[in-house]
Amino acid sequence: MSVSRLSRPYAEGLAAGVLRYQRCAGCGQAQRLARHACPACGSTDLRWHDCAGTGTVAAVTEVRRAPADAWRALVPYTLVLVDLDEGTRLMGHGAAGLVIGQRVSGRVDEAAGQRVPHFAPLGPG
Ligand SMILES: [Zn+2]
Repeated sequence: MSVSRLSRPYAEGLAAGVLRYQRCAGCGQAQRLARHACPACGSTDLRWHDCAGTGTVAAVTEVRRAPADAWRALVPYTLVLVDLDEGTRLMGHGAAGLVIGQRVSGRVDEAAGQRVPHFAPLGPG
């Protein structure tokens, strides 16, 4: 099974406007990448779930040089690595000014014609 096929439920989630992650049905561990088997218990019963979208910023990068022409109009933009409350970690675009440790809420946004996770500061409540 190819990586693209493995992560297809994630891509389909983006198309449907939901962020998804994989969790082991055997031991409950949330997976950080789409996998064939759980690294904790070896189970191949990994199932996809929707994320609530809330989490904490683990890393922030400001991109000043676009990786491809399609992204050039967006620079500078912010990429963030977010530890989601479900226990998994997701990379996405972020609002400018996000800092490590900040609580954020993610949704699916469109950037350069692609659907990507986008994280913004979590408001009160
Ligand atoms: Zn497991």
